[in-house]
Amino acid sequence: MPRQRDLPPPPERRVYCNRTLNLRAIRAIGFDMDYTLIHYRVDEWERRAYEHLRWRLAEAGLPVADLEFDPDLFMRGLIVDKELGNIVKANRFGTVKHAYHGTQPLPFDQMRRVYGTTRVDLADARWEFMNTFFGLSEGCMYAQLVDRLDDQRLGGVMGFRQLYDLIRHTLDFAHMEGRLKADILADPDRFVDLDPDLPQALMDQRAAGKKLLLITNSDWAYTRPIMAYAFDRFMPPGRTWRDLFDMVIVSARKPSFFTSRMPAFELVDEDGLLRPVLALTDPGRFVGGDARQVEACLGVSGEDILYIGDHLFVDVHVSKDVLRWRTGLVVRELEEELRAVADFREQEAQLGKLMAEKDRLEHRYAHARLGVLRAKADAAERTSKGGGSGRDATAALHREMGRLREALEALDARIVPLAKASTGLYNRRWGLLMRSGNDKSSLARQMEQYADIYTSRVSNLLHLTPYAYLRAPRGSLPHDDEAARMSDPEA
Ligand code: IMP
Ligand code: MG
Repeated sequence: MPRQRDLPPPPERRVYCNRTLNLRAIRAIGFDMDYTLIHYRVDEWERRAYEHLRWRLAEAGLPVADLEFDPDLFMRGLIVDKELGNIVKANRFGTVKHAYHGTQPLPFDQMRRVYGTTRVDLADARWEFMNTFFGLSEGCMYAQLVDRLDDQRLGGVMGFRQLYDLIRHTLDFAHMEGRLKADILADPDRFVDLDPDLPQALMDQRAAGKKLLLITNSDWAYTRPIMAYAFDRFMPPGRTWRDLFDMVIVSARKPSFFTSRMPAFELVDEDGLLRPVLALTDPGRFVGGDARQVEACLGVSGEDILYIGDHLFVDVHVSKDVLRWRTGLVVRELEEELRAVADFREQEAQLGKLMAEKDRLEHRYAHARLGVLRAKADAAERTSKGGGSGRDATAALHREMGRLREALEALDARIVPLAKASTGLYNRRWGLLMRSGNDKSSLARQMEQYADIYTSRVSNLLHLTPYAYLRAPRGSLPHDDEAARMSDPEA
């Protein structure tokens, strides 16, 4: 049964807001294509990318023939430590909370030793952030080859950093050269996850007077067939994906598109014949150009234009930093993540209660311990004055500490399995995308900084309508709960 459009969508399909955004005031919306307007079956796409990568590395003489892509090994938001051959997950302060060396988990004490005093600073070339799903094949191959490097199976030529660079350049080449894309186009049913609601979501925005732009790093030879495949079947009769966009910009070379001046070429025919132009025009289809030209052509500036993409650095970080565009991040993982969190809610509440009880017992234990310390000091003083030893009080405190220790052990036995299950939500190895331990993950922190809004897919705009006013929630502070309890002790 179709969902009634004025009812709120389920939480995993809502649009979330970090900074208040009045959609009414937005005059132009730019969309990234890959993993934004077109969602791929990550497992299939990245497996195929991995196969191309493996094939090229084998040609370069690396022993990779028996390796297989493992989609669960990594996820977006992880960070490669190129210096040590590790993959880590950090919290919002850059503290490493999880780490693997190659494909093997780094034991806790080793992790503490290696990263105890190190903070992940993504501006440092040591670290490589997995910004998009396109990084999964690369991360998987890197981890597997770190194992082989440790086993001295790669020859003595390289270290962890050179290995990373080799994989990066090889995959880069596979993306640019035509064969990987040709595989996708030959069997799109296998690789593309269609979304029937998407064209209507865009038509609504356009009908409300907003300019719509497609700005993709993919080239015209790929963009044209893949957009036609994903959109045309859901368009009203006689209309195609081309009717959705005022401007189409392919081979955009983001992030340079946002940071530099770049030449523009007009696409003058379907086969991609090009003509150099001095400026972008509306309507138009172009190869290259840059964001300043878009602003000049449409007469808009940062506050008027919303750009929606899936790449945390390229699509939202740079466009926000350099141009102050309004930004939206597509986070498809949100759908599975929110469901996993919801399914775990009862156990999470139970864990919260047990942790509160642990806090209480630890506090009593600390007081009993302090009591012993004070009793000892008192006793010393009394003895020096010829008084009693106070041994009874000390013995009672020791008994109390023993009882508390037992209670804490029993509590831990109940906490450990729940805490373990909690840290394995969404991804068995790495846990939730947005969290690292009890805190926000570094991915969540960057989203907060650079993405004004985020949502699992672009068609979630359908429910919002072009007239929505998205208000940022009041941010939370550690003392908020206590302040609430002060006014309502029952809470
Ligand atoms: P967009 O997300 O629509 O801007 O398009 C992303 C494009 O970048 C796709 O054509 C991808 O194949 C391509 N791409 C992804 N990763 C790499 C890479 O590492 N090197 C070169 N191109 C890439
Ligand atoms: Mg993209």
